[in-house]
Amino acid sequence: MKRLSALAWPLCYLGAALLDQTMLVAGQSYGPLNLSVGIALLAMLEKGFGVIPWLGVAVLAAQLLPAALQPNLLLVLAELASVAAITVALRPVYQKSVWAVSDALQLLLCSGGIGATLFWLLHTLLATSLGWHWDAHSAPMSWLAFTLSCLLCVTGYRSFILDRKLLRANWLIETTTVVTITASGAMLMLGNFDVASLQFTYLCFPLMVWAALRLGQISNSLLITVILLILASAPVRAVMSDGLVVAQQFLLLIALQTGIWLAVVRRENALAMAEAKVAKQVFQHASEGIMMISADHRLLAVNPAFTRITGYSEGEAVGRPSRIFDTRPGNPNLYQSMLLEQLSAHGHWEGEMLDKRKSGELYPAWLSISAVHDHEGRLSRYVGVFSDYTSRKQAEQRATFLATHDSLTGLYNRNGFHEALSQALTRASTKRRGLALLFIDLDRFKSINDTLGHDVGDQLLRIVAQRLRQHLKQDDIIARLGGDEFTVVLENIHQVNQAAQVAERILQALAESYHLHGQELFVTGSIGISMYPNDGSHAMQLMRNADLAMYRAKDLGKNALQFYAQEMNRESSQQFSLQSALRFALERQQFSLVFQPQMNLATGQLSGMECLLRWQHPELGWISPAEFIPLAEETGMIIPIGHWVLRQACLTAESWRQAGIMVPKMAVNLSVRQFKPGVLVDQVATVLADTGFPPYLLELEVTESLIMRRLNEAVQIMDALKMMGVSLAIDDFGTGYSSLSQLKNLPLDILKIDRSFVEGIPADQDDTAIAQTIIAMAKKLGLSVVAEGVETVAQMQALREAGCDSMQGYYYSRPLTAVQMENLMRRLQGMHLRAEEVESVQG
Ligand code: C2E
Ligand code: CA
Ligand code: CA
Repeated sequence: MKRLSALAWPLCYLGAALLDQTMLVAGQSYGPLNLSVGIALLAMLEKGFGVIPWLGVAVLAAQLLPAALQPNLLLVLAELASVAAITVALRPVYQKSVWAVSDALQLLLCSGGIGATLFWLLHTLLATSLGWHWDAHSAPMSWLAFTLSCLLCVTGYRSFILDRKLLRANWLIETTTVVTITASGAMLMLGNFDVASLQFTYLCFPLMVWAALRLGQISNSLLITVILLILASAPVRAVMSDGLVVAQQFLLLIALQTGIWLAVVRRENALAMAEAKVAKQVFQHASEGIMMISADHRLLAVNPAFTRITGYSEGEAVGRPSRIFDTRPGNPNLYQSMLLEQLSAHGHWEGEMLDKRKSGELYPAWLSISAVHDHEGRLSRYVGVFSDYTSRKQAEQRATFLATHDSLTGLYNRNGFHEALSQALTRASTKRRGLALLFIDLDRFKSINDTLGHDVGDQLLRIVAQRLRQHLKQDDIIARLGGDEFTVVLENIHQVNQAAQVAERILQALAESYHLHGQELFVTGSIGISMYPNDGSHAMQLMRNADLAMYRAKDLGKNALQFYAQEMNRESSQQFSLQSALRFALERQQFSLVFQPQMNLATGQLSGMECLLRWQHPELGWISPAEFIPLAEETGMIIPIGHWVLRQACLTAESWRQAGIMVPKMAVNLSVRQFKPGVLVDQVATVLADTGFPPYLLELEVTESLIMRRLNEAVQIMDALKMMGVSLAIDDFGTGYSSLSQLKNLPLDILKIDRSFVEGIPADQDDTAIAQTIIAMAKKLGLSVVAEGVETVAQMQALREAGCDSMQGYYYSRPLTAVQMENLMRRLQGMHLRAEEVESVQG
């Protein structure tokens, strides 16, 4: 049922007023029944004062009824004014969802104290001034009728709205039975009235109390209403004096108010029980361990999770003193005194605590403990909730380990190393001791990684880490900073030769052979050493200096150790300035291209050219690509530079073609970093399209390490380039790890024999044999062969005999500027020189 709507309230009010009116004894303006007052109060409490005009309409409507049914208008107005006064006072209490005993008392005070008293005053005033019937019983009767009605209606309606969902069929049966028994009893007593039987009224009390306790406030209100109706009925009024009616009314008021209180208590209890039930469920099924601890620190109750975590059963735990409060020595918790202090000061503590399981194992627990006080503020118990923190703790430890350690080798990583180094430096400075920092870099590791793959590279690094651990002391600091760079800190070192001994030992260990994937590999290392405090007093300085020393060791032929010396600083600052200068070289147009002609060994004609990059630095002069290309690769500058070279080469060659010159193939060098899927192919296509240079004249030179690094990817890129019509050459052949058979499946056109093999021809028999073999096998694979770095006529002749197709080198021509190259091509074209005559165009 929805709450009575705005219109329903005035209708109810009208009905109640008519009922009141019909129950009146003729000639009186009031009686023991005044239900309309209670309904009016309910209407205002529920709907607010906006309902007053509607109640007014109902009052006016009643005035149209036959005179006997018309309520007294003045009396009604007095009633409504009193009801409005109650409403103002009672509203906040009425809106509470759960009433306490004090709220029920407040209802009594508002109804009886404020409302009924005001009404009684107004009623007295009206009756005396207008000469209505008024005797000694009138005032108490109207006061009691008013109060009873308010209490009945407000509590009955409220309980009905709140509890109606809980009402069951047997409730209805019980209530009906009780009400019927009470009603018939009351009728018997009051109807056949004699003073002696009035005492039986008291019998009603236990019944009413029982009804309120068992069946709640609705039954209580119903019961009293029925008795009130009987009391007000004509037959009873006919036999009972007004004085006795008032006495009965008074008894009813007491019974009603007692019932209200009992019903409130009953409700409170029911709620508390429901809450206790939920709490018990939580207690039983929580995944956290929960314990109740008495004020004298003994365990009162523990839940199943407690048993699961600690291993102690409920029986073993309950009654024992709690460890939390154990202050005897031997308690592993450092902060326990803080816990106890905070608990007594703030009533709560939360934090980590070490606890011991039944098995004796210590484990970290996250504990939250609160003091519980009773309603008088005395400490009654503590409630502790805790969870096993072990797995979280382990995860935390793992995370901190990973933050400071290298996942591949388990050594310190850069972060961990910096931390360890700074601690070691603090120790060294406080104890006035020396320290050595070793910077270890593997030689040629990059080419192993490139040719044999990252898996092999990773395994190799792991073995290196293992060997370092084996040959160093337990408390030496070892780290992998990244790639193939390792560092070692040796503490308590005072003499250079102490550090040198350790470094020697490491070099020897590294140089032993590595067996990986059935292959035997040899790798060496270069070590740079800086000493504290001589070579630097703080970490950055020591690191930098050891790094410099390591580079010096590499320069001096690798597989060596080198101590830092002051002059190294100067050289490195030069390199640094080179690096920054390189960044601006492109935009400041310091790059240019030179072109080195290639000669067909069979015909003696110009067969192609290789374009080579030149950098003219305003202060440093010409800088060799052998010097700056690796730098550009390191910094990533090679990408824009390489793009510029490709475009410039095609532009130049195309401008020659436009000038009517027969241009042979143009070879352009590519760096590893340019060889990116998606990037390179697009770049080449765009440059060709933009410049109009035909693809069949473009040759791209790549090194073997570049191809072997990621074979599948490289083949895809090469295939795409071939599809465009571009030729592909393999540069510096013979210097890497790959064998000819590995080239078999690659879409290559040209093979360039590295200068290092050409150098020894024809004097060195090995070199000659190698060159001959390479040429023979390349022919079998259908590749055309170019020999690089040909400087003498003997070399040329030997290569021609071996079947080499073309040559490139100082013997034929040094690299030429674009203008020189253009002139050469024009001359050659005009003269149609024979092979012998061309042989030394450079002269
Ligand atoms: P590379 O590709 O092997 O180029 C051949 C190098 O050998 C050139 O040195 C050339 O001047 C030199 N050379 C030619 N004939 C002879 C000879 O008869 N005797 C001697 N001793 N040397 C000879 P350069 O120009 O200094 O270039 C060095 C390297 O720099 C090149 O080796 C190439 O790897 C790289 N490089 C040059 N230009 C570029 C470029 O535009 N892009 C890329 N990625 N690399 C380039
Ligand atoms: Ca080249
Ligand atoms: Ca080369």
